[in-house]
Amino acid sequence: MAHPKRKHSNMRTRLRRSHDALKTASFSRCSQCGAEILPHRICPYCGYYRGKPAVTIRVKSKKEEK
Ligand SMILES: [Zn+2]
Repeated sequence: MAHPKRKHSNMRTRLRRSHDALKTASFSRCSQCGAEILPHRICPYCGYYRGKPAVTIRVKSKKEEK
């Protein structure tokens, strides 16, 4: 089995992990309602995608929750 010849240095480990940090999600604005939304997704607030209605948003009433 292939096996490492030498222990690699702490610096090498740290250099690799310097790219591991998570970035915050980027947001874009909904062109219809102006809410912050994830890019390339239907707006969860008004249901529009690229300026056109894509889905109808149904607001949950208390009757529907039961
Ligand atoms: Zn919207």
